[in-house]
Amino acid sequence: MNAVTNIYEGRCHCGAIGYVLHTEKPPAKWTLRSCQCSFCRSHGSKNMADPSGSVVFRIAEPSKLIRYRFASRSLEFLVCSGCGGYIGAVHASPRGQWATLNTNVLPAMAELPQSIPFVADDAPLAEKQAGREQRWTPVTAGLGG
Ligand SMILES: [Zn+2]
Repeated sequence: MNAVTNIYEGRCHCGAIGYVLHTEKPPAKWTLRSCQCSFCRSHGSKNMADPSGSVVFRIAEPSKLIRYRFASRSLEFLVCSGCGGYIGAVHASPRGQWATLNTNVLPAMAELPQSIPFVADDAPLAEKQAGREQRWTPVTAGLGG
């Protein structure tokens, strides 16, 4: 059986920032994580990542893109200054960019699984960053270098 690559387009409420996810995994097979950090709880985020997929960010209005950092400042949380929407977080390194994507900004899908509350571990930062490069979705375009 040949795998089919599906395309899912998410965008913030006003449409200024968004992403195009390419994945062979059907939504029913996604693992959705509700990170319990203070930022994600405030957005009720339900994030997915597919290391075999890829994502392109589509920033229609670059002036509205906020690349918010906090705590270890090792991630950029992509937030819209127009509507407050949160579309995903990006880890960047000399090897590339990887993202975890907030599925709340996708069109409603009946087949999305329940999200799993997830508490970020307190592993050393370098270990967490290496894990992101294995588990998160490679970013192929959209945010610059
Ligand atoms: Zn917006």
